Amino acid sequence: MEGTCKFCKSDLEKTETVCSVCGIDNTKSKKELNKREKKTKRYCTCVGWLGVICVVGGIATIVTSFGETNGLMFYGIIRGAVAIVFGYGLTEFKRWAFFVGLTIIVVNVLFSVVPPFDPILLLVSFLYLWFLTNPTARAIFLRKKSSAKEVTQIQTPKDEQSQ
Ligand SMILES: [Zn+2]
Repeated sequence: MEGTCKFCKSDLEKTETVCSVCGIDNTKSKKELNKREKKTKRYCTCVGWLGVICVVGGIATIVTSFGETNGLMFYGIIRGAVAIVFGYGLTEFKRWAFFVGLTIIVVNVLFSVVPPFDPILLLVSFLYLWFLTNPTARAIFLRKKSSAKEVTQIQTPKDEQSQ
């Protein structure tokens, strides 16, 4: 293998063909993917782009906050820094990005219900919540517990090299 998963662009160990992030076998061609794998692949692409947008947005937030009053500038830099770190976590499908994302959502929900009530922020927060906690997302971000076990179970009976 090349060292990069061709479906989600994560690092791939040289000895393994099944990606530990998306769980897709890299010996498969794109046409051989089943429905679930196609969904996972699409989702990985979406998350990757969302991560890039977060990083760019974070940088823009920091740049535009210069020139604001001290308090606002400080707030802008913090928000921008969080967005950059979170965006980076998304592009790498980091496990911690899942929890950072949940924290950001909770904070946003709190901000949206504190007067003045902000229905758009609340709606966006729930959209993000769905995006982050749907089964495809959980399988990718929380992979270490579920998919790793599944993979060994599937491979064990066919493992002829050890016999
Ligand atoms: Zn992958």
